[in-house]
Amino acid sequence: MRVVAIDGPAGSGKGTVCKMLAEKENLVYIDTGAMYRCVAYLTLQNNIDITDEDKIVELAKNADIEFVGDKVVLNGMDVTKEIRTMEVTKIVSPVSSIIPLREVLVDMQRKMAESLDVIMEGRDITTVVLPNANYKFYLDASVEERANRRYKENTSKGMSVSYEEILENIKARDYNDMNKPVGALMRTDEQVYIDSTNMTINEVVSKIREIIGRD
Ligand code: C5P
Repeated sequence: MRVVAIDGPAGSGKGTVCKMLAEKENLVYIDTGAMYRCVAYLTLQNNIDITDEDKIVELAKNADIEFVGDKVVLNGMDVTKEIRTMEVTKIVSPVSSIIPLREVLVDMQRKMAESLDVIMEGRDITTVVLPNANYKFYLDASVEERANRRYKENTSKGMSVSYEEILENIKARDYNDMNKPVGALMRTDEQVYIDSTNMTINEVVSKIREIIGRD
């Protein structure tokens, strides 16, 4: 099995880079952030308070999450757009701090990687989910650049959220994601660190391809 693990903060380019690498390297792309987003979306849909951990864990246990091409399918419904709204984005980091919920999703993620060549991205993939991955990367960029990328992405999709609101959200998520007792985003000596602040997507993709050994 060929397993590539990529961690990094919001807006570091993981999603775009992984999609391109998956296609070029014939790997299955697994976006673990989308899985936490699905649970956050279900929490909102079911009017569950984010402090009600038992109910949220129950939702996750019963959730059927699939990646079908470019789409995220939750319990048979295409939720690709719905999981990217600001309402979901605002609660996803606290929801993902629930330790028993992480256990449920980490289990699902490991099962997905068992029988497939995968490229999996998130916050704890190189450290917790797939510590034995063949290749481990930490993709980074300055917080302003990351907010800028998210702003452009949202605008192109017709979502009207201000740059300031996105910047504040990313800062809050960075803090929460880096300070979780379990599954925190962290840098380790085993990861190849890439700062993409002044790099194009193609440059990042080429750099990773050089390391994972194919052209
Ligand atoms: O990658 P994305 O920004 O869509 O992830 C949404 C949120 O899900 C992150 O801010 C983080 O709180 C959480 N997450 C996580 N562990 C992962 C992936 C995402 O806690 N492996």
